[in-house]
Amino acid sequence: MNKPNGIKGFIEVSLLDWDGFISSVLFLPNCNFRCPFCQNWQLVDEPEKIEDVDWTIIENYLRAKTEWIDGVVITGGEPTIYPQLRLLLEEIKKLGYKIKLDTNGYNPSLLRELREEGLLDYIAMDIKAPFDGRYKLASGVEELEIERLKESIKLLIQGKVDYEFRTTLVPSLITAGEIKEIGKAIRGAKRWVLQEYQPKSARNEAYRQLKPYKKEEVEYFVSLGKEYIEEVYYRGKWR
Ligand code: SF4
Repeated sequence: MNKPNGIKGFIEVSLLDWDGFISSVLFLPNCNFRCPFCQNWQLVDEPEKIEDVDWTIIENYLRAKTEWIDGVVITGGEPTIYPQLRLLLEEIKKLGYKIKLDTNGYNPSLLRELREEGLLDYIAMDIKAPFDGRYKLASGVEELEIERLKESIKLLIQGKVDYEFRTTLVPSLITAGEIKEIGKAIRGAKRWVLQEYQPKSARNEAYRQLKPYKKEEVEYFVSLGKEYIEEVYYRGKWR
């Protein structure tokens, strides 16, 4: 029988990847973006160097832990370009789990389909910058079709599946001005999470030198975000 393959990572138990949930996390290879600050760039640039995790191991674990694990997080890389995504989601659903999908939002039609098929319970979409040339810099994609991102945003805001938008606070890309612009662009959204920037494992050397924002700065960004979005909070360590 056809089973998902090429899964590149499996965390059995995580308290960090789905707020309020005890989750297992699956990492999928490849991405259609090349964000200079990407933390999982090995999965994107050289997935062939990372050993596959056999689906049977994941399946057996999840089958045995239904009392303990609340849900499964699918992340990457960019899950929506993984050819067996639907199959993987169906297999997890058969085991009785809720599913959270992390995405860069570049495939609105697939998001719509998967959501309508009842395969997603939570969607976390990145908003990397305001929707102009700065998004090209943040995503590393020169020919970026911004409309696709806007379509995903609309889809999430108007849909019934729970979701969050999330923005990593990369100091060279996100300042108070960008927070205001993004806030305006996603006005009406339910939840916006500002995420800690972790320079150590960034793809580009220059981005490894950046210092994450301090507590007062992050608090200020959160207060700015709340002018546009009701629920805004920070995810990360206070510095
Ligand atoms: S979209 Fe995510 S996985 Fe893809 S390059 Fe950007 S940060 Fe990395």
